[in-house]
Amino acid sequence: MRDRLIVGNWKMNGDLATNAPLLRRLAVEWRTAGDRVLAVCVPTPYLAQAQSELRGSAVAWGAQDVSEHAKGAYTGDVSAAMVAEFGARYAIVGHSERRQLHGESDALVAAKARAALAAGLVPIACVGETLAERERGDTDAVVAREVDVLTDALGADTSRIVVAYEPIWAIGTGSTATPEQAQAVHAAVRGRLARAGAGDVPILYGGSVKAANAAALFAMPDIDGGLVGGASLDAAEFLMIGRA
Ligand code: PEP
Repeated sequence: MRDRLIVGNWKMNGDLATNAPLLRRLAVEWRTAGDRVLAVCVPTPYLAQAQSELRGSAVAWGAQDVSEHAKGAYTGDVSAAMVAEFGARYAIVGHSERRQLHGESDALVAAKARAALAAGLVPIACVGETLAERERGDTDAVVAREVDVLTDALGADTSRIVVAYEPIWAIGTGSTATPEQAQAVHAAVRGRLARAGAGDVPILYGGSVKAANAAALFAMPDIDGGLVGGASLDAAEFLMIGRA
């Protein structure tokens, strides 16, 4: 049985004052439903706050990126070990906003996933195609390339990661992939992962997930949960997605 996972990605949002009631409500109201995990990936400066508000609750927390390096002269970067020191369980790597806005390559994303694993974190590695790539019929090839670079770099450790399929055209746009569109890509991703002996890795869907569409997406056989951006900033909505 694969783990089910709902992860909030706050992106660069929040402040100490508004984070507190959001985290507190998640801590109080989220009760684990069997094997289902709820987690929030907060901006790095708020890891300490997430730790103090969520410690002892059923909600896990994580970061949105880590350095590929363990330590050293990398001004502004944050190592996976530093993130782990704050009790984090997860680190998103290779989000499309980092790939597009910071020029992160497939190889760099794989190196970040490896650094996260070395620090005891579970990397949530994001893959997904642009609208132009989908319209050209290149979705499967793009996603296969992104997954293959990860599996080639991680080998047997691929089984310790989480993958998030996030079609870039669906992120923050309100235009969600249909459950069938998402399922087709998830099945293809699972096939690539299975070649590396990692067919049981949880594969999350991300891209305008809301309480209203979550149940239909999560009912698909290869969708093991969600990576949720905007809707994770609203505790009630995020909890409803978690229960969907
Ligand atoms: C994301 O940032 O990973 C994401 C899926 O955003 P949204 O849910 O807002 O589309």
